[in-house]
Amino acid sequence: MPELPEVETVRASLARDLVGKKVKSVSVTNGRLVRRHKTAKDFRAMIEGHSIRSAQRLGKNLVFALENGTHLVIHLGMSGQLLRAKGPKDPKPKHTHVVFTFVQGGELRYVDPRTFGELYISTPPAEGQPVEISKFARLSIGGDGLALRKTVPELAHLGIDPFEDQIGWDRFAAILRSRSTSLKVVLTDQDIIAGIGNIYADEILFAAGLRFDRESESLSTIEIRRLHRAISETLTEAIKHGGSTLDDEQFVDPDGVPGTYQQFHQVYNREGQACFQCRQPILRETVRGRSTFYCPKCQS
Ligand SMILES: [Zn+2]
Repeated sequence: MPELPEVETVRASLARDLVGKKVKSVSVTNGRLVRRHKTAKDFRAMIEGHSIRSAQRLGKNLVFALENGTHLVIHLGMSGQLLRAKGPKDPKPKHTHVVFTFVQGGELRYVDPRTFGELYISTPPAEGQPVEISKFARLSIGGDGLALRKTVPELAHLGIDPFEDQIGWDRFAAILRSRSTSLKVVLTDQDIIAGIGNIYADEILFAAGLRFDRESESLSTIEIRRLHRAISETLTEAIKHGGSTLDDEQFVDPDGVPGTYQQFHQVYNREGQACFQCRQPILRETVRGRSTFYCPKCQS
């Protein structure tokens, strides 16, 4: 599933050529992808004829501001891809469900074999209508995250975004100490920290030297600072490498290029292989139905 580094890779790529373009037409061949709207026609009517003003990201969501004040929100779900094409003559990949055609030429295609992703147009709340913003996000002291939540109420519940919300380690400590759940659960709960999933939670916890099943409230100050730093460092490195593309997943950027960060994974998908730090075999455990990889020696 695409996580923050993959979604950010897509955002950065699209920001380069989508901003300023005007949507000429949209075709939707699978209504499930626009399920928040009554009909696919409603979705199309809300975006056709409008220009894209910016490309932002919050958690695992792509947020494109339109010139009329609304936003196109895209979540890639488990297997979504956004691919650019020169025009209708470019062969369409299987599972292409939504196609945006631009006045200036070119297409953007949404491809998703499992159709867990979604696209919708978000309308800003009426003047004076309060938006209930996540208590964790409210701890942010800067960044674009709060403004984005205020104009896209569907995203207001999201917890701290490691890049769009600024939060020092001391406020991060307050979040961890308010929970009595395992670190893996805290890191992957989108309402606490937005953008991290199964892969990066394991990599971050290895980088911080912490076990997935440690209770978040049990961390010392030094451990909290280590975890805080590991989140931004691990995600920054992953973005630099265009995210992770695994054998069984199809993540590619809008030009069809896979990420390379999987080559730098320390623990994820490495069960039985030697830890790069201590040579102990990496272990795998199932937590809430999903695999967790860790080093029994380097993480405590
Ligand atoms: Zn180790």
